[in-house]
Amino acid sequence: MANKNFKEGLDYAKELDQKDPLRKFKDRFYQLEGNKIYMDGNSLGLASKDAEAALINMFEIWKTKGILLWNIEDGFYFQYAQKLGERLAKLINAEGNEVIVAGNTTINIHQMIATFWKPTKERYKILVDDLNFPTDRYAIDSQILLKGLKVEDTIKVVKSKDGIFIDEDAVVEAMTDDVAIILLPSALYRSSQLLDMERLTKEAHKRGIYIGWDLCHSIGGVPHDFKKINPDFAIWCNYKYLSAGPGASAGLYINKKHFGKTVGLSGWYGNKDETQFQLKHQFDQALDATAWQTGTPNMLSMAPLQGVLDIYDKAGLDRIREKSLNLTAYLMYLVDARLREYGYSYNNPTDDEKRGGHVALVHDEAYRICLALKNHNVIPDYREPNVIRLAPIALYNTYEDGYRLIDALEIIGKNKEWEKYSSERTMVM
Ligand SMILES: *Cc1c(COP(=O)(O)O)cnc(C)c1O
Repeated sequence: MANKNFKEGLDYAKELDQKDPLRKFKDRFYQLEGNKIYMDGNSLGLASKDAEAALINMFEIWKTKGILLWNIEDGFYFQYAQKLGERLAKLINAEGNEVIVAGNTTINIHQMIATFWKPTKERYKILVDDLNFPTDRYAIDSQILLKGLKVEDTIKVVKSKDGIFIDEDAVVEAMTDDVAIILLPSALYRSSQLLDMERLTKEAHKRGIYIGWDLCHSIGGVPHDFKKINPDFAIWCNYKYLSAGPGASAGLYINKKHFGKTVGLSGWYGNKDETQFQLKHQFDQALDATAWQTGTPNMLSMAPLQGVLDIYDKAGLDRIREKSLNLTAYLMYLVDARLREYGYSYNNPTDDEKRGGHVALVHDEAYRICLALKNHNVIPDYREPNVIRLAPIALYNTYEDGYRLIDALEIIGKNKEWEKYSSERTMVM
């Protein structure tokens, strides 16, 4: 539970940092040049010394062992994607062999839809929401087209009433007999709302519908209990809260009750290890999550994750979640105390159980305020149409960062500093 008795003032922020049990982990991470306040760890987590060491180690092995890479250390590197999967599984309380590190989020969505979605005349629809990140929808739409079906006849969209939150009752209501499969985000990328995964999964299964979750905005920030939730599948990226590097190989979970189900997109790394190098033209499918790999694992894009998982082992996800909730609660407290008079508000959930890892700060001039924030040495993250996402990351952000961020927002508001900037959009925000 987040602290509810905050005080104003820089000294108080420093006091909270003093008492923070995770404060020593900040030293494991590199700060950006110019001492910037980084509030964008939910888009791309910062580099750590541990990730760097693991990456250098991988390069060194390639350099000194060449192809022998696959054989040394009892085949550790040959099974690297499984080994890292086993460790990632702890973050969602899944079995070790239910998780594999492979591909990217988008391709893993293709993989899961291709595996689970077998449309029949009666049951063929794919249920989604209208607030999810667009790549999820692009992947689903192209899977529909690949089957020769029409998107508008096949997709069923649960619409948000306010453009901010998804109403879980409306999702349950939409689970009609013609729905074959559901894909939803665990946390909404704009408002940070956490959906009740356990309830929605139960409701889907009651109706014979497959359900999968996109964990991109919760993995590494919010613990999940997959033994309880028991979904059919899940996918996620490892470069946001988990800080495994830009384009890091992604995560894929498949419930063990589906081991042996025919893989939608197969490749030789999905073959059983024992027969893979017999190189037969008959796919001999592995009997756990490794079956859903396609080609050779991206070793250099996986290594940093190994380093990061060492940090997670020491810090503990529960402590990370607790600090994250405190940091976002502290930001909301300061917005209420100091920023409302300048037109700022937030539209993320205030309930701890419903809030992910960021504050969705709202302002009519959000875009130009983001430009002004960069001038105040803050790296924020803008999302159309009016949201500034503020993601204080428990492992490397401090309460003082939060305090200084609010200072900057207050000055920008007081002086209407956004007026100095154009509202024309640039490429990446
Ligand atoms: C970040 C994010 C993605 C990213 O997909 P990639 O294929 O890894 O680029 C996908 N879905 C959601 C919900 C995201 O937040």
